[in-house]
Amino acid sequence: MATVDFRVGARAHITVDSEVCRSCTTSACVTACPANLFAPTSDGGILFNYEECFECGTCYMVCNSEGAITWTYPDGGQGVVFHHG
Ligand code: SF4
Ligand code: SF4
Repeated sequence: MATVDFRVGARAHITVDSEVCRSCTTSACVTACPANLFAPTSDGGILFNYEECFECGTCYMVCNSEGAITWTYPDGGQGVVFHHG
């Protein structure tokens, strides 16, 4: 196994569903992320740059659109997905 390829993946992995973001009215993540990893695109979606993320959780807290942000932990085996309750 080429584990070196998964050094980034061993941390929590965040994915952003740009389709959900397209109907988001607040884009709260754009200003809330302390690392400025969310960039609005011209078509109303969101470009998310995971590599600089330090997993503070702020984006997940401020996002009000269910399913837009997904956290997974690849090193946990199955991965864990959080949903807004
Ligand atoms: S991640 Fe959440 S807050 Fe940010 S644009 Fe998408 S739906 Fe909106
Ligand atoms: S967890 Fe923190 S640093 Fe990572 S994308 Fe979300 S707000 Fe930005």
